[in-house]
Amino acid sequence: MTTTAKRTVKFVNPVRIYNDLKKELDAAYFDVMNKGAFINQEHLQTFEKNLADFVGTNYAIGVNSGYDALHLSLRAAGVGPGDEVIVPAHTFVATASAVVNVGATPILVDVTKDFNIDVDLLEAAITPKTRALLPVHLSGWMADMPRIMKIAEEKGIPVIEDACQSLGSSIDGRGAGSWGLTGCWSFYPFKILGGYGDGGALTTNDPKVAEYARRMRFNGEDRESGEYHGHGFTCLLDNLQAAFLDVKLKHLPSWIEQRKKLAEKYRKGLADIPELLLPHYERPGFDHIYQNYTLRSQQGSEFSDYLKSQGIEVLTQFRKPYYTHPGLQLEDKGFPETEALSREVCSLPMSVEITEEESDYVIDTVRRFYGK
Ligand SMILES: *Cc1c(COP(=O)(O)O)cnc(C)c1O
Repeated sequence: MTTTAKRTVKFVNPVRIYNDLKKELDAAYFDVMNKGAFINQEHLQTFEKNLADFVGTNYAIGVNSGYDALHLSLRAAGVGPGDEVIVPAHTFVATASAVVNVGATPILVDVTKDFNIDVDLLEAAITPKTRALLPVHLSGWMADMPRIMKIAEEKGIPVIEDACQSLGSSIDGRGAGSWGLTGCWSFYPFKILGGYGDGGALTTNDPKVAEYARRMRFNGEDRESGEYHGHGFTCLLDNLQAAFLDVKLKHLPSWIEQRKKLAEKYRKGLADIPELLLPHYERPGFDHIYQNYTLRSQQGSEFSDYLKSQGIEVLTQFRKPYYTHPGLQLEDKGFPETEALSREVCSLPMSVEITEEESDYVIDTVRRFYGK
């Protein structure tokens, strides 16, 4: 079947998913409102426990955003002025900004064809000043954590995982966010587990890190004793958001299965187009959960503009690498893979809200662009 009539396909459709879960989400809302429970209440604690179980760590600490999870993790690792932290050249800007905002220097390293940090280059970038490694698991596909952890353990450098795009992903059954000192999570509405506003969390097995994060998100205060243990921040995950997220977390395993099916449908529908590089990788033990379906088109913006003109919302926010923005004052040392992929990347709609007709239309439109 070929769908030619023009239509709109949204990248995510929060209204559709709200309608699907309306009963559960409304019940969570009324429960919070009827209890008048807004800051650090049972809904937050329940969600934290369920998130930790899902990730496979002893602790989860809800914070305001993925950025805050990165920020508190760097502080917990003792990173500060004069230190270097290795980050990928291709990531969302917050990864590097968190490093800058603790006074340290982000050392950028290029990525490989799977969009994640090149471990050979990471190893070569380590200096006596390196105080943390900050790999990112982009789009639902994890960086090579077995190798990264081996290097980190040999050198005694802590690892902070930016897992903001990979909730539910794993290598050899071990979850993203459970390998390093901490895993950092974002519940920004576009993420696989999206809230209704900003939100985030960090996960860890280290009781000291958990205690540090719990205090620092709350002005440095120990809530039981009232003692201030340091100059902290105000960055808790809202209790109301936690209640919503806990509802959605229960559905996450089935949503991941649906995403994998959609990814497979895209692969089948587009595999015969040589100008496209699709995000499917053969690596035993690695599990892709398709937070994003980011492909590379040799036709770059011509391709993504065409999809947009046909009503398909695609993400192309990586066209201009973050380190090339003058306001960030980062050194552009030349990152060939990041530069090449930046011209070519395009994320197709990939959410559980998308209907079969909509994904048919996406495939047909891509094929039409290539004259198929
Ligand atoms: C979304 C995201 C963040 C930041 O999350 P916020 O909740 O928006 O602060 C950090 N890193 C990566 C890779 C992300 O995708």
